[in-house]
Amino acid sequence: MDLQESKTRPLGPPDLLTGMEGMNINDASKASLLSLPVELHLSISSYLTLTDVLALRNITRYFSTIIPKPTHAELLEAEISDEYCYILYACTGCHRLRRHHQFSPRMIKRTHRAGGRKAKNRFCVECGKRDLPGVDRYQRGSRWEENGEVWLRCLDCLEFDRAPRGKGVQRCGGCHAAYLELMSAPSVDEETDQEDEAEVIVEKEEYGVLPLCYVLR
Ligand SMILES: [Zn+2]
Ligand SMILES: [Zn+2]
Repeated sequence: MDLQESKTRPLGPPDLLTGMEGMNINDASKASLLSLPVELHLSISSYLTLTDVLALRNITRYFSTIIPKPTHAELLEAEISDEYCYILYACTGCHRLRRHHQFSPRMIKRTHRAGGRKAKNRFCVECGKRDLPGVDRYQRGSRWEENGEVWLRCLDCLEFDRAPRGKGVQRCGGCHAAYLELMSAPSVDEETDQEDEAEVIVEKEEYGVLPLCYVLR
């Protein structure tokens, strides 16, 4: 193994039979924990706090493979601990503890606050923007706050956009303008009535009097 390779090679996982196999000499000083058998790793992890379990899972792919991922219930318990309260919040979409700025403010307040009645339904902005259909994400017409701005998933085209001015607008700028235009245009019935009246006037002018068919209407 050349020097360059030994420097860039990631640590572990160790061979479970020999412990040290699969590791290079430069990593040997870091191998004390990794060289233990898998049963001991699991045994040790069962005594660790959730913080330490999460940290250990982040060290190498080996630990993230053998140590079970914390359940959502455990994450919800962790978010009300002294260590995490008001700092990290559980997301039901990605089953991770995430920082407060990764959620829309409404997702971490009131009933969605840490320990709140709906905390179990909380999802981060990243999860909320996953494709539809699906649960634990922003549905058509949903609005949320992100980096101090209100965003939405357009009710019509499903694209993400900054919300246009106007309370509770659920469409992107283009679709909202088209919607307003449609609403201000006369309806089909109104147009038909206006056309009928125009025809009556034309026929009245041609005949000089209103035709009988119109009188009997
Ligand atoms: Zn998430
Ligand atoms: Zn749109």
